[in-house]
Order: sequence, then C-alpha cells, then structure tokens
Amino acid sequence: MRHIAIIGSGPAGYYTAEAAQKHWGDEVQVDVFDMLPVPYGLIRTGVAPDHQSIKGVSKRYETTNSLENVRFVGNVMIGDDVTIAELQELYDAVVLATGAPNDKPAGVPGEGLDNVFGSAAFVGWYNGHPQFAKLNPNLSGQHAVVIGNGNVALDVARILAKTPGELAGSDIVAHALHALQKSNIEHITILGRRGPHQIAMTPKELGELSHLERACPRVKPADLPAVDEDLFLEPGQRKSVGHLRSFAAIPELFRADKPIEIEFDFFASPKVIVGEGQVTGVEVERTALDSTGRASGTGETYVVPASLVITCIGYKSSPIPGVPFEESAGRFANDEGRILPGLYCVGWARRGPSGTIGTNRPDGFGVVEKIGEDIGAGAGKAGRTGFDKLAEARKLDVVTFRDWKKIEAQEEARARDGAPREKFVDVGEMIRARGD
Ligand code: NAP
Repeated sequence: MRHIAIIGSGPAGYYTAEAAQKHWGDEVQVDVFDMLPVPYGLIRTGVAPDHQSIKGVSKRYETTNSLENVRFVGNVMIGDDVTIAELQELYDAVVLATGAPNDKPAGVPGEGLDNVFGSAAFVGWYNGHPQFAKLNPNLSGQHAVVIGNGNVALDVARILAKTPGELAGSDIVAHALHALQKSNIEHITILGRRGPHQIAMTPKELGELSHLERACPRVKPADLPAVDEDLFLEPGQRKSVGHLRSFAAIPELFRADKPIEIEFDFFASPKVIVGEGQVTGVEVERTALDSTGRASGTGETYVVPASLVITCIGYKSSPIPGVPFEESAGRFANDEGRILPGLYCVGWARRGPSGTIGTNRPDGFGVVEKIGEDIGAGAGKAGRTGFDKLAEARKLDVVTFRDWKKIEAQEEARARDGAPREKFVDVGEMIRARGD
C-alpha cells in the first residue's frame, strides 16, 4: 500500500488524487488536506462567481472523493496542527498543492494606501474567502484602476461593471453583492504596461466585455498595431486582439446608453500610487516597446484618477520553513515536481501562477509518475491510520467530506433566488453548519 498526503484541495490537489487513484487503484490511500473546512481552493474562491460553468469541474473532484481510497481532511493547518516533517513520517509522499495565494507586489510607492488591494484579496472578498471577507473596499468613488493585462484583471473589471441583475445567478457572496449594489464606480481603467499584442487575456473572457448591460469597453485606435501585424500572432492571441479592435470601433452613439466605461490604457506602467491616506490616482509612465516586446519608460508621465486600485499582476506561493523556495519565481524549487526525497509539488506551487484549471490535470498525472518511480510499492508507513491517531491526540477538529456535504447543503439551502449557493465566509460558521 502507498500512502500519499496532498496539501491543498484545489484543482492541482484533486487532479493529483485522481491520478493516484487511476495509477494504483486500491493499492493507494490518499488524504487531501485543507486549512479550510471546505474543499476546492481556487474553484471556490478564485474562479469568478459569474463563471459557474468553470466551477462545475468540482463535480469531477467529488467523484474522486467518492471512492474510499481518497478522503478530504479539512480544517487542518499544516505547519500549526501538524508539520510537513510529521506528515513525511506517516506518508510515502507529501505533495504540496498549495497554489499561489499571495499577491505579487507591484513594487511602487503608495501600495499601502487605503483602498489599494491585490487581486488575491479583492477576488477573495467577492468570493467569500474567510481571510478577506472583511476587506470592505470603499466603492463610493467613481474611478477604479485595475493594473495588469491578464484574465484576473478582466474578472475584476467585469465584476465591478456588472449590474446586480447580471450577478443574480452567480455565487458572489452577499456582502459583496450589497456593496456592489451601492457602488458609484463609473470609470474602470485597465492599465497595461505593454501593448495590445502583449496581453495575457483570452478571447472568451475579453468577448464577455461586449455583452455587458451597463458597461462598454474602450480602446484607443492609436494604440493598436497595423492590422497585418496580427498575422504574426498565435490564433488565440489574434482572436483576443480582434476583440480589442472591435472595442476600438464601437460608435459613440452606442456608448450613450452605457454609464460605465471600461477603458484600456496600454503602454502605461504604474510608477506611483498617489494619495494621502486614501488613494486618489496612479501616476503612470508611457512606455515604448523594443523589437523583443520589452517595455521601457519614455519619461512621459501622467496621473490616472483612482478612488480604488486593484493590482492584478500575478501571485506567489507561501514559502514553508525548510522547503527550498525560488523567491524570484514565487514557487517551490523543484525538478519536474520533485522538491526533496518524499516531497513534491504540483500546480501553481510547482510552476507559478499560469495556465487554466485544466493545465493542472497533466501536472498531477506527471507528478504521480514521479512518485511511482520513487516510492515503488510503499515503505509500510502508517498513512491515514497514523494521522488519525495524531489528530485524536492533538484534539484536531477534522472536517470530513461527509461534513462538507452537510455544509454545502446548508449553503445551497440559504442561497438567494436564482443563485446556486450562499457561501459561509467565516470558518466558525462553516464548522457550525456541519452540525453534530
Ligand atoms: P497573468 O496572466 O500572468 O497576467 C499578469 C499581468 O500583469 C500581465 O499583463 C503582466 O504584464 C502584468 N504585470 C505583471 N507585473 C506587473 C507590474 N509590476 N506592473 C504592471 N503590470 C504588471 O496573471 P493573472 O491575470 O493573475 O492570471 C493568472 C493565471 O490564471 C493566468 O494563467 C490566467 O489565464 C488564469 N486565469 C484564467 C481565467 C479564465 O480562464 N477565465 C480567469 C482568471 C485567471 P507583462 O505581460 O508585461 O508582464
């Protein structure tokens, strides 16, 4: 029997569990740990609340969990309740699937001003992550600046722009929906330090901006390269740039009905977040690109007004004492998922914050191959029985998958009309919802 502990119950964790199940069948036992009493990580608290079809992938993880050899072990904080070293004593392989939950800093003055947030915090707020439920962003001003040209920037801009009606069928949490209902934001600037050909936004997500009830995207025609230069782009990127071209061609007459503008400001690198106490703007420097697509400042600066700033510029994993970490890349130092003997990583903890949910599947299967090469038939470790003894001795309040299903049922029962669930945003509430 092989015993595997996976730390983190998001997509990377569950795809790894599924891979182990497929690889070894009954000859493996997998425990999937999470610090929260609820599973699915980024699916629950990262994927946009209005992207329910993407969230549907959690049904697949539920199937993985339906066999006895994979179990969810929630409400256990690795490092506090049990250490990595202790898990390594108990399991043949410990896999870090802890994602990249921390915002990469922009590294400019003013990041600490009021109403300046990283996307991990802001997205966590509207998705009900307990750590960010009390963020309380001030939406009473009119101008939001979203820094970054990736899909997270699009998610944030879209959520700020949607009407309560457009969010009705989403699982955005009540505190965020109420705040957005009262929002005065009417101008959203998306700042990109490079140009339209360098965006990291995908076509489907960009296309959504064309169909918003009260918001309209704007791209300055002068920012767009000559059309024939699009021929050199990958097909997906060409499609994305096609959307930007269509935004640039929207007639002013059409804009008249749309009180919110989502403006793309390209070749604009943030230099200083301006304000006294509260943020009032972002000073940017115009950039120019060299032949390799690298941006450098031109010396021309201007200030974009901002009552709210959200940086959407990427994430970093959380280092763990004693585990080799690549600070510059914000992920664990690893060789194809191997960190140290018996210790592995997958997903964003392995490769950094890139790719879609599905990218984690081959990642999980790849790491299971490596584990198979390294551990053979297992070393006769105590596995989950050993963990259960330790949990009992330490009086850990472990939340099981069956408990989660009770919490989930409560979340579904208290959903507003048309919404799939109303999430609990407090760990204590989650545990109480489990009942006895
Ligand atoms: P991302 O795709 O890596 O984009 C980060 C953006 O931030 C880039 O435009 C980057 O510009 C910019 N940036 C980085 N540092 C900056 C700085 N100091 N100043 C100004 N701009 C800076 O990251 P993400 O948007 O966080 O997304 C993470 C991953 O999740 C991506 O793979 C994304 O596709 C995925 N995701 C997918 C979906 C979906 O499929 N619906 C939704 C959300 C996220 P440069 O290019 O110049 O570095």
